[in-house]
Amino acid sequence: MAKGTLDKIQNAIITTVNFSPVVLVALLVSWSYLAYNLSFCWTLIADGNVLQGIAYLVIFQPVSVMMVWSYIVAVRTSPGYTANFPLASPNLTQQEDETPAGISQSLGADVGMQPLLQRGSRPSTVMVKRDGRARFCQKCNLPKYDRTHHCRTCKKCVLKMDHHCPWLNNCIGHQNHKPFYLFLVYCSLYCIIIFATTLPETLRMVNQPLGLFGLDLNWPFLVFFSGLFGLFLVPFTGFHTNQLMQNRTTIESYERSNFIMGHRRNRDVLTSRYFNAWNLGRKENVMQVLGPKVSNWFIPTGKPEGDGTTYPLSSYAYDTLVEEEDVSDGGRDLERQ
Ligand SMILES: [Zn+2]
Ligand SMILES: [Zn+2]
Repeated sequence: MAKGTLDKIQNAIITTVNFSPVVLVALLVSWSYLAYNLSFCWTLIADGNVLQGIAYLVIFQPVSVMMVWSYIVAVRTSPGYTANFPLASPNLTQQEDETPAGISQSLGADVGMQPLLQRGSRPSTVMVKRDGRARFCQKCNLPKYDRTHHCRTCKKCVLKMDHHCPWLNNCIGHQNHKPFYLFLVYCSLYCIIIFATTLPETLRMVNQPLGLFGLDLNWPFLVFFSGLFGLFLVPFTGFHTNQLMQNRTTIESYERSNFIMGHRRNRDVLTSRYFNAWNLGRKENVMQVLGPKVSNWFIPTGKPEGDGTTYPLSSYAYDTLVEEEDVSDGGRDLERQ
């Protein structure tokens, strides 16, 4: 068989395997939605528990809609790839051997006087390799922006990569972090509502004389699957809420990062897993992902702050990474390097 045909077959298999969790999610959501509405709520209403059934139906619909909406947006939105911003940062386009990276040109006179690197200011990089050289992806043959990581599944560098999510068949990065997070929130609520409402009714049914014979099998399955997924999803959502409030990605929470300190010629590097350069305070951290308008935080639309190639440094990180002389000479030495 020709190599081209073999490659095509291999790619088709990989695509199918990668997409199968999405199909599984779609099937589970479709079944649970129909089973909850038709088998559970309508049975309650038909049995005379009208108010209870209607109350459950009314609570369940908006959560379901928001969950499916967030999921579709998260799956369909690109996380943001370096390949789409190759020239956004001129100082990053140099090859790794040519120069150590560093607190780049944006620590010039205008930004150096301020506690934070300005949002939307000139591009900056503070993350480097362990030896102080610029981060560069050999596979993409592109420089790496701060917080960018190469995804082996996507085979691309992803801006502010959080992790690759097989359930979405997509990377979670700068551009789709919000819909992903909202999907977790609404999916957790979905599981909690189903579990909390179907469990007591199922137990009541089972405990009736000959109740087992009259039990709709959808009920115990709803209890089982909502309990099982809720058991994983609720703590997972809690973890991501904490990450969101700290402005940390999953990768940043378990991987050491290297930051350039002071003058680039010194190549002093701060290596730490706990140094969070992007922690701007809870509200600002949340705004970085969910957007500046609080009223839009729970709707999976809108764009995050910035284009994903640069991020404002916290004042603590700024004080730690920038030496007095960097500021006093207006960063001119940095520019000469
Ligand atoms: Zn790459
Ligand atoms: Zn990926």
